[in-house]
Amino acid sequence: MTRQRARDARAELIQHMKAVQRSIRDCAGCGLCCTGAKNAVQILPLEGQRIAAWIERQGSPAVHAWRQRLPRAVRRFHLGRGAACAYTCPFLTPEFRCTLPASVKPVVCLSFNPVERERCELEHAWYRRVFAGVTRRNAAAGLPERLAPIPVAVLEALNSKPASRRGRG
Ligand code: SF4
Ligand code: SF4
Repeated sequence: MTRQRARDARAELIQHMKAVQRSIRDCAGCGLCCTGAKNAVQILPLEGQRIAAWIERQGSPAVHAWRQRLPRAVRRFHLGRGAACAYTCPFLTPEFRCTLPASVKPVVCLSFNPVERERCELEHAWYRRVFAGVTRRNAAAGLPERLAPIPVAVLEALNSKPASRRGRG
């Protein structure tokens, strides 16, 4: 999959997610799949870089705030690499909305959607197709194929990579 095709596939998934939100149900005020009750999402370093770049674009106060908030989530839920661990995502707002715009949201989050009004699940075909492109681009960027919980991956990206190299996901 070329870089452009990977971008197109991601854009199609975002359009699909928006269509689901209109036609099946809007996630506003739910957020159950982002809490420790359901969420054990792990992402690749490239996805962490994409989110870190978005935080940096918000300016220094945002970077400072997330440098405080992300380690708190890591400590609270004992997050690290290895076995998937349940956690409430620090990007979930008190109003149960995702802070992140669709343009930087992890593929797994974009792929977990209502499939009926009362039933949500990972849409595997979408996930496999779009995540394959992310995996290739992660490798092409020289990053390890190493999954980590969202707060761990974003914190690593904030701490380690110059801003100019982020946002390639
Ligand atoms: S996908 Fe389902 S569980 Fe997750 S926020 Fe939307 S409605 Fe709630
Ligand atoms: S990034 Fe957003 S959608 Fe994904 S788990 Fe966190 S709050 Fe939920």
